[in-house]
Amino acid sequence: MPKDKQSLSRHLKLLISEFGKDVFSIDNVALFCKLSKVKVDPVRRSNITQYIKTEKHHRFIERKLNQKTANNY
Ligand SMILES: [Zn+2]
Repeated sequence: MPKDKQSLSRHLKLLISEFGKDVFSIDNVALFCKLSKVKVDPVRRSNITQYIKTEKHHRFIERKLNQKTANNY
């Protein structure tokens, strides 16, 4: 396990640069979605691509976009 730690953190950084550091942060050995406060198992890339397709995540993305564009609220 410790042997893999470095490659895992490199893996996590790659995933974050791919999926957006506005959205994800690294939480120890997991990816943490800042918007919906959900931890995603980062070992399989498909976990993340599946997660970002979920309705829950989309709702948070939309809310964030609305906050950016609508200043009149
Ligand atoms: Zn999310």
